Amino acid sequence: MKNGLYVVATPIGNLSDISSRAIETLSKADVIACEDSRVTKKLFSLLGISLQKTFITLHDHNEEDRAQIVIDYIKEGKSVAQVSDAGSPLISDPGYKLIKECKKQDIFITTIPGCCALISALQLSGLPTNKFMFAGFIPNKEKARKELFEKYKNLDATLIFYETAQRIEKSLIAALEVFGNREMSVAREISKIYEECLTASAEELLRHFRENEPKGEMVFMVSPADKEEDSNLDLDEILTQKMQNMSLKMAVKEVVEEYHLNKNEVYEKALQIKNANKL
Ligand code: SAM
Repeated sequence: MKNGLYVVATPIGNLSDISSRAIETLSKADVIACEDSRVTKKLFSLLGISLQKTFITLHDHNEEDRAQIVIDYIKEGKSVAQVSDAGSPLISDPGYKLIKECKKQDIFITTIPGCCALISALQLSGLPTNKFMFAGFIPNKEKARKELFEKYKNLDATLIFYETAQRIEKSLIAALEVFGNREMSVAREISKIYEECLTASAEELLRHFRENEPKGEMVFMVSPADKEEDSNLDLDEILTQKMQNMSLKMAVKEVVEEYHLNKNEVYEKALQIKNANKL
C-alpha cells in the first residue's frame, strides 16, 4: 500500500457496517493511529484483522505532538491508517490537526468513507436535508448551551448536535426556551438493536424523555428557523425584485423553497403584485 495517511471510518454500532475497503486498508496499514488502542484492538479482533502492527494513540491532548511522529512514519515509507473509537474521524473526534500538518508537509492523504452519526441521524429525522449545520457537542454549562442555541436561532438550516442521554433533558429545556416549540428530533442508538428516531415538538419530546428514561448515544436536531415568523421578511419586496428578472411561476417557486412558505399564499401575493405593478 502506498505510503501516506488513510482516514478510515469505522462502525457506529453495527459491526457489519464496516466497508470492505476499510477492512483491506486496516489490514494492510503498517501503523494504526487511534484514539484508544483497546477499543481499536477489540474492533480488529472482531474483524479478524491481525494485531501485528504498530498502534499509536492520538487524542485531543496529544494530537499536535503525535502528528509529527505519524508524519515521520509516512516519510519513512509507511502507510498509516487513522481511526477514531467509532464513526468518521475528525467529526467531533481527533484528526484535524494531523490532516492540517500532513497537508502542510505535502503528505499523501486519502479517505475511506463510511459511518457518520450526524448524517444517519439527519436521514432518519424527516427534517429538511437541503441545508444543515452541524455544531458538534452541546456544551455542558447552562450559559454556554443557551449561547450556542442563540447563535444559530435564526439560521435557515436544520441544526444538528451530538448529545448524551444524561444531558438531553437539559438541552430540550434550553432548546424550548430559545427556539420555541419548534419541531425537533432525537435519533439514538443508530444501527443498534434499539435504534429509534423521534421527531416531534420540543414539548412532546421533553414529555417523552421525562416519561421514558433517555438511553444510549444520541443526535439532537432542530428544524430550521421559520422564515414566515421572521418579522424582517419583506415578501412584497422579495417577490417584486425576483419578478423583474424571471417569470411569476419561477419567482414563486424560488421564494417557496428559499423561505419555506406556503405555495398558495406566495402565489396569491405574486398575482397581486403583478396586477398592481403591471409586471
Ligand atoms: N465521529 C463520530 C461520527 O461522526 O460518527 C462521532 C464521535 S462523537 C465522539 C460521539 C457522539 O456521536 C455520541 O455522543 C453521539 O452523539 C453520536 N453517536 C455516535 N454513535 C451514535 C449512534 N449509534 N447513534 C446515535 N448517535 C451516535
